[in-house]
Amino acid sequence: MPGLSGKRCVVTGAARGIGAAIAQAFVNEGASVIATDIDAALGRETADRLAMPFHHLDVASEGDWAALALRFPEVDVVVNNAGITGFEAGAVAHDPEHAALDDWRAVMAVNLDGVFLGCRYAIGAMKRSGAGSIINISSRSGQVGTPRAAAYAASKAGVRNHTKTVALYCAEQGWRIRCNSIHPGAILTPMWEALLGDEPGRAERMAAFVADTPLQRFGKPCEVAAIAVLLASDDAAYMTGSEITIDGGLLAGSAVRP
Ligand code: NAD
Repeated sequence: MPGLSGKRCVVTGAARGIGAAIAQAFVNEGASVIATDIDAALGRETADRLAMPFHHLDVASEGDWAALALRFPEVDVVVNNAGITGFEAGAVAHDPEHAALDDWRAVMAVNLDGVFLGCRYAIGAMKRSGAGSIINISSRSGQVGTPRAAAYAASKAGVRNHTKTVALYCAEQGWRIRCNSIHPGAILTPMWEALLGDEPGRAERMAAFVADTPLQRFGKPCEVAAIAVLLASDDAAYMTGSEITIDGGLLAGSAVRP
């Protein structure tokens, strides 16, 4: 029997990258998945390819979550994956001295408000059965400071902490609703493709980005998805409020070089 057989799952930001890989892995494990994204065109294309329904959802919109709750009032797994760096429209200053308040708020709206609303929806949709798994995609940037991505780092630290609050709250209520976070390092997705750019020089830029990573490579979306499968499954029934780092060893400490 596949590990997620019979589980009803919602994945945000599922049009591409890590979200699409999680949606694919869940289906492979026997789950039924609702793919959601703010990008309706790409979201529908991905959902069609993976043979699953698509629901348009901007995670920062309370109204969009209310509409999702009307259409899918009961779920077993919610993956709060959608996130932005704030650099999508090009490089802007995001250091603590120069970051603009509007830029800071734009990142918070998606990364932190989005996860808050996603957890709130999940609790409501899991309460009746009293069980479920909420998986929040944070980042290694939520565990350490990131001088040139201040808003992103603060938002992901907020995701890390809110995950633990949700876990404790649900346990207090006597529900078996678990909430855990995943902390990826550099995973090669369209988010990174934009930063790496095209040839010439792409290989050098890639090498520079992974130079401090002990495993000396980018991670793959399917490698993050494998962790999400574990957290979604009943094999992780005793895990709540936990964080799993998947970063090629980056945060393990400084590598000692002879
Ligand atoms: P990506 O940019 O490739 O994909 C993100 C998806 O989220 C896109 O489909 C986009 O349309 C969607 N999205 C953006 N804003 C949205 C909104 N307001 N509502 C709904 N959907 C929205 O990014 P990715 O690399 O796949 O990242 C997925 C998650 O993993 C993000 O939370 C990101 O912060 C986190 N993460 C990624 C990396 C990495 O190296 N790729 C590392 C750490 C954490």
